[in-house]
Amino acid sequence: MKPAQFEYHAPASAKEAVQLLAKLGDGAKLIAGGQSLVPLLALRLAAFEHLIDLRTVSGLRGIKDRPGSVSAGAVSDDAVPGGAVPGRSVWVGASTTEAAIGRSRLVAARVPLLARATPLIGHFQIRNRGTIGGSLAHADAAAEYPAVALALDAAIETLSPRGQRAIPAGEFFTGTWSTALQPDELLTGVAFRVTGGPAGFAVEEFARRPGDFAVAGAAVAIELDADADGGADGRNARVSRCAIGLFGLGTTPLRASAAEASVAGRAAGDLSTDAFGREIGQAAMADLESVPSDLHGPAAYRKRVGAAVVAAAWGRAINEAVGGVVGDGHGETFGEEAARG
Ligand code: FAD
Repeated sequence: MKPAQFEYHAPASAKEAVQLLAKLGDGAKLIAGGQSLVPLLALRLAAFEHLIDLRTVSGLRGIKDRPGSVSAGAVSDDAVPGGAVPGRSVWVGASTTEAAIGRSRLVAARVPLLARATPLIGHFQIRNRGTIGGSLAHADAAAEYPAVALALDAAIETLSPRGQRAIPAGEFFTGTWSTALQPDELLTGVAFRVTGGPAGFAVEEFARRPGDFAVAGAAVAIELDADADGGADGRNARVSRCAIGLFGLGTTPLRASAAEASVAGRAAGDLSTDAFGREIGQAAMADLESVPSDLHGPAAYRKRVGAAVVAAAWGRAINEAVGGVVGDGHGETFGEEAARG
């Protein structure tokens, strides 16, 4: 099948894209990499009179190190709006491809959870075109990036006729394939806070075949108290922040809040055993509602898989964090990366 007929628009700037969205109304749809939208159009599960192509907006691509908080300023014609993450952050433009993120040294060094999740997305052909903005706006509950954004408390930056805003990832995913974006709002970029002290990050998922969407997955971020005496091997250091993003386990990406709260302030050494990994895996599943039952298996199966992937990701993240107390550090400096794709 072929898509229904549409008029094609190629704006030169973020501002122009927003003006088109506002002018054309419900009949218009943004298209980025097309990896989610094109199949819907081709199968005629969706039809729009106007497609607004974001590939022509160069200001929406790229990866930048932001030294401190940047306040929302005036919107230039090729806008990269300011952010709302206090302290150092890494900004990833909405139209930056998953492949460019996967290649980025800056992301690998400063936002390792994002880097580690990227190779799990589809196949390289998908990642060559699919974008972070498209992935977050599409808001598939089984997708990796939404869970990573939740686990890292990312700020999702937007532009609309009313101006710029930054939406905390925790408020962005509002329901099945739905987000806090307004119909005339463009996602411009994502700001990820850079952690300063010892930290560990891991993502784990189970999919039936490599490249498939995950049956269940978990993205774990753990930070330890940098100032406390962690002991010679780092095991006395206490958890200052823990976030567990879950995907494939609900109608939206989720945080396992009760499991996270259960480790706050506890010594890392007590939490790095296999037995504790299994315990937190179970705890992360305990209060889940709306776990899908589908052709991949019933909800009970997904929960068993979910507990196992949380346990595996937990073990890697806590061990990396403990290792960070006794050494490691991020010494290199990075500038701006122009994302080719
Ligand atoms: P598009 O398809 O162009 O757009 C998707 C939606 O986002 C549309 O509604 C569009 O209007 C909206 N949108 C896009 N950009 C913006 C913006 N800047 N502001 C506001 N709205 C915007 N994804 C995974 O996470 N994990 C997987 O394992 C995975 N496997 C895949 C396997 C296959 C075979 C395919 C075809 C896709 C797979 N994907 C997977 C999806 C892929 O990651 C997509 O690239 C992604 O979901 C959407 O990104 P896109 O740039 O292609 O967006």
